[in-house]
Amino acid sequence: MKNKPLTLAVDLYGCPNRCLHCWLSHMPNRTMEPDADRWIVDQFRPYFDQISFFSWLREPDFCPDYRARWERDKRLSVNAVPPRFELASFWRLARDPEYASFLKEVGVNCVQLTFFGMEETTDRYVGRAGAFQELLKATEVLLAHAISPRWQVFINEDNKDELPALLRLTQTLRLPARCEAFGGTFRFFVHPGSCDGENRKLYPIRIIKAHIPEILIPYFLNYDALLPEKEWYEKWKKDPSHVVPHNTDSIVLYVAGNYDLFFNFTHMRPEWRIGNLKTDPINELVRRVMEEDIPALRIARNITLGELVSRCGDPLSERAFEKEDYQMYLLNRHLETFA
Ligand code: SF4
Repeated sequence: MKNKPLTLAVDLYGCPNRCLHCWLSHMPNRTMEPDADRWIVDQFRPYFDQISFFSWLREPDFCPDYRARWERDKRLSVNAVPPRFELASFWRLARDPEYASFLKEVGVNCVQLTFFGMEETTDRYVGRAGAFQELLKATEVLLAHAISPRWQVFINEDNKDELPALLRLTQTLRLPARCEAFGGTFRFFVHPGSCDGENRKLYPIRIIKAHIPEILIPYFLNYDALLPEKEWYEKWKKDPSHVVPHNTDSIVLYVAGNYDLFFNFTHMRPEWRIGNLKTDPINELVRRVMEEDIPALRIARNITLGELVSRCGDPLSERAFEKEDYQMYLLNRHLETFA
């Protein structure tokens, strides 16, 4: 076996949305060359025995001929079949009567849909008018095809008060009972999300744990793991460890529309760039991948968590974070501000 199994996710088609919480960061929807997919796989083929190829890293199936595209993704993969996830395009679900049948055929039994509150707020967060209505339509289309919708909800200080109404809407629409009728399970869950990419800009309105409406607590993802920033600060201010993301059993690489290459550790910003497939030699790019040798990781190895939180944390802040999200927030803040 040459190296670890590799997953390549290429931004071939882009995304119809511009979500305020997008952890990848907003990028233009570019049109890559017609044979870019094969060319990219061929670059890595000499170095990896197993490659799973995905023609998307933002909106799945956001290309008109998604059936042929899926077959091509499978053909381009090497000694691997790319898995389907509980992800799909709600943009397409709301427009394309054939799409849900396709999802069912490829074994998708649950699809996650993301809300940010009621209509006006969800449209504002997704970045386009009509998004909330499309999410409701997508929910109905999925149910009609015996696919369980799963409503993911992001909470911040500016939308927290309307989330109980969203929870009540799931009951008005009888979503749990309608999923049970075909043997499925409806899930509704709330969380603050990470704090990188576009989400990083939402730090000023990040939720304070004590402000989470009580009715939402049973639906909160990892509620007990959520701590105020000031508690993390106290815990870590003398911590000598380092925050260094690392590939374990496999490697996932993101390819942007301009051929820039990234790990899947956090947002796709310059300090996390491995290089560019068109302008850097592939043997050097693979070396950087295998040795995890990029500017952000070099800096991460040379600063302790205690130094990170002392420089970039707020000892008075009540904003709520899970451990890994706060560590990545600190590292990215350090990279942006001091590195
Ligand atoms: S979060 Fe997903 S759907 Fe929203 S802009 Fe980012 S890639 Fe697109």
